[in-house]
Amino acid sequence: MLKSNSLWATFSHKYYSTSSSPLALNYLNGKRVEKISSSNLSNRVLLNPATGKEIGGFFDSSKECVDRAVENAKEAFSAWKNLSSFERGKLLRRAADLIREDCAALAKTEVEDTGKPIWEARLDILGCAEAIEFLGGVVPSVKGDHFALDNGNFAYTIREPIGVVGAIGAWNYPFQMASWKAAPALACGNTVVFKPAQNTPRTAVMLAEIFTKAGIPSGVFNVVQGAAETGSLLTSHPDVKKVSFTGSVEVGSKVMSTCAASIKHVTLELGGKSPILIFPDAEIDDAVTGAMLGNWMTQGQVCSNGTRVYVHRSILNSFVEKLVKRTKAMKIGNPMEEDTRVGAMISQEHAERVLEYIQLAHKEGATFEYGGERVTPSDPLLQDGYYLSPCILTNCNDSMRVVKEEIFGAVMCILPFDEEEEVIRRANATHFGLAAGVFTKDLKRAHRVVSALESGTCYINNYNIYPVELPFGGYKQSGIGRECGELCLQYYSQSKSVYVEMGSPTVDAPF
Ligand code: NAD
Repeated sequence: MLKSNSLWATFSHKYYSTSSSPLALNYLNGKRVEKISSSNLSNRVLLNPATGKEIGGFFDSSKECVDRAVENAKEAFSAWKNLSSFERGKLLRRAADLIREDCAALAKTEVEDTGKPIWEARLDILGCAEAIEFLGGVVPSVKGDHFALDNGNFAYTIREPIGVVGAIGAWNYPFQMASWKAAPALACGNTVVFKPAQNTPRTAVMLAEIFTKAGIPSGVFNVVQGAAETGSLLTSHPDVKKVSFTGSVEVGSKVMSTCAASIKHVTLELGGKSPILIFPDAEIDDAVTGAMLGNWMTQGQVCSNGTRVYVHRSILNSFVEKLVKRTKAMKIGNPMEEDTRVGAMISQEHAERVLEYIQLAHKEGATFEYGGERVTPSDPLLQDGYYLSPCILTNCNDSMRVVKEEIFGAVMCILPFDEEEEVIRRANATHFGLAAGVFTKDLKRAHRVVSALESGTCYINNYNIYPVELPFGGYKQSGIGRECGELCLQYYSQSKSVYVEMGSPTVDAPF
């Protein structure tokens, strides 16, 4: 079924091949470092999800390494924050240009690490260049306020950086996590220690190299590799003043507790189980496209996915028929091929977890309209990869676990509804609140429903679109804080109020 592609045989590219060792994936003080002492934690093997084959390895960072990275960031802070925001913005915009120049190498590495289709990776990388360019462009306009007070006294506010930011990413959009956290943090004058997810370590280091090439000083952006232990070394570090975390609600809650101990600022981008509401007057082909955009990107491993698709009973059959036909036509397989629409799941462990949910759906009485099976491509190179066919379930109800819990795979639950009020109540009956979609031609209904939905991002007649101008983040347990948009700069800076007394020589006081 799939054509052979020898690209998988190698993991070399211009960045990787220039490093002294494939283990040199930490980035400290402007260069790659393999390990700084023998006290590093375990030696980790990196697997390509598309082939199941080893493509490299690295060390989890020890306490000594995390301490060194935070120390670098602390030392670089004063000079970096004292640059004008215009100067910092210029360097970020230069980095955005370099990302565009290196898009092919970045996208290829992202595919090798994640298993997502190459065209998706390319779009992600170009979107990151835009986010960095946008925030580098708007940051010089961030300003304080002036307050005229009595007797010629006045006050003003200044926005200042917070300090060293400890940033931690998930594995589904590795370059985006690093970029979306680095861009606002650096734009505001903070310095960063970034820890990528352990399955997708490489493109964050490539971003660090690009920052250095763009002229951003050593120590401003550092990368430490590792898993939970390294992450908690970072979040508990006394010199880290803000933590920006993307991942599951479960780990996000732990991160927030750790931050509470020393009252660190915190941004949390967490999970979701978002609803898409399709009303009877919707343009049905657009609604099908929206449901596919909201479920099939990156093999369904997308936090904002609209996995609970509420379809008005009167259009249910035609919606399902069109959806199944278009989903069946998607090519599953080699993510390096341009016409592939479904690549590989991140790992065997995660693919098995999704398959367990699919078995549960069977037990819970869902009807399988399509997919939900392990796929073995005919290409021998891909036979150990982790491929699943996207799964469409009908005959679902709101009390099923597959409808309530985040699966983080391509499993779409279709749920019929009758009334607007009913579907709003059902859509909101979850502790998540990341995103939601509404498909209707009725303008008043669209805005009325959106205003009632408890979600940080709502889409009308589209889904999973991320313009960089728009803040992104969750309501309820889906998160705290925002990424992207001018608004995100507020979460990476703090406000200083300055009162100016002009009443000299007499300062008024009751004693
Ligand atoms: P995860 O929570 O298991 O891990 C996320 C990161 O946290 C990884 O880098 C991991 O090494 C690190 N980590 C684990 N334990 C830690 C600890 N105790 N202290 C500090 N760091 C620790 O999540 P995942 O499996 O990598 O990603 C999937 C989850 O991420 C899903 O729930 C998904 O919805 C969510 N996600 C959210 C967004 C968003 O923007 N809201 C984006 C992508 C993914």
